[in-house]
Amino acid sequence: MITQIQGLHHITSLAADANRNNRFFTDTLGLRRVKKTVNFDEPSVYHLYYGDEIGTPGTVMTYFPFPLAARGTPGTGEVGEIQFAVARDALDFWTDRLARLGLSDLASDTTFGQRRLRFSGPDGDGFALIERPDDTRGAWTGAGVPAESAIHGFSGARLRLQDDGATRELLEFMGYERAESEDNVTRFVRPNGNGADTIDLEVLPQGSAAQQGAGSVHHIAFAVPDRAAQAEVRKALLDTGYQVTPVIDRDYFWSIYFRTPGGVLFEIATNEPGFDRDEDTAHLGEALKLPERYEPYRDRIAARLDPITG
Ligand code: ZN
Repeated sequence: MITQIQGLHHITSLAADANRNNRFFTDTLGLRRVKKTVNFDEPSVYHLYYGDEIGTPGTVMTYFPFPLAARGTPGTGEVGEIQFAVARDALDFWTDRLARLGLSDLASDTTFGQRRLRFSGPDGDGFALIERPDDTRGAWTGAGVPAESAIHGFSGARLRLQDDGATRELLEFMGYERAESEDNVTRFVRPNGNGADTIDLEVLPQGSAAQQGAGSVHHIAFAVPDRAAQAEVRKALLDTGYQVTPVIDRDYFWSIYFRTPGGVLFEIATNEPGFDRDEDTAHLGEALKLPERYEPYRDRIAARLDPITG
C-alpha cells in the first residue's frame, strides 16, 4: 500500500458550450474560475478550471468545452456522480436556489448517513451536493452564495462499474479504506485526507459501457504533495503492473495517467506549483493563459476561441 495520495486533486469533464459551462459553475454554483487556458493537447478548445479562491487541490472541477460535442451516454466504466461538499443544513438553501435558477431534476435523499441533493449540469453531468459536517475547509463565496452554504470542494466521486473487484484492490493499494456498503454501492475513504476523500463504487453487472461525450467525466485526478511523491507512486504502480504514462507538465501541476481495470482513467497530479504560478491570486482565471510552446501562436489560438463573457 502507498501513502502519498491525499484524496482527489481535480476532475475533468467534457462540455459543449464554454459560456454556458462558465455561467453554471460561477453564477449557479458560486465557484471561482481559477484558470482560463487551452487544452494542452488540443489548443483549439479551452481548458477551464473552477474551484475555491486559489484552486486548492480537492476543489477543482475542470472542463474541455468542445463546441459541437454530442452529449455522452451514461453507463459503466466512468465516473457517474461528482460530489461536492457543503456544511450541515446547507441543502435547503441549495434546493431553493437551484430550483429558482431553473434546474428541474433535483432529487434529495440520504446516503451513507449524509444528506445528498442530486442534480444535472448543463450537459447532463451527474452532480450531487453532500452535507459534510466534518469538513473544515474554507469556501469561496461567489455569486451571492453565503459562506455557511458555499461549496467546500469535492466530497468525492461515485464510479459506475460492471465489476468492482480490481478497482477495490487498486483503491486499497492507493491508501483508501473500505467503509460501508449500501445496496450495490461500496464506499472507500482516505483517512486523514484532504477533504475530497471518498470514492464510491457502484456495481451494475448488466450495465452497458458509457459513451463519452459532453457531460461525461474524462478523467479523475488524485493529489500527491510533490514530484518526489509522484515518482514514488508512479514506480509503485508500474511495479504492480499498471501502464503509467511518463510525467507530463500541465503548468499548474505535474501529471501521470493510467487506465484502471474498471475502465476509468485515473491521473495522479501534484499539489505544486499551483494556479498562482502565472497570475496574481486577485486575478486568477481572468486572462487567457497559454503554455509557453503556444505563446508564439497566441493571436491565432485566441481568435478561434469563443470569448467568455463574465
Ligand atoms: Zn487532469
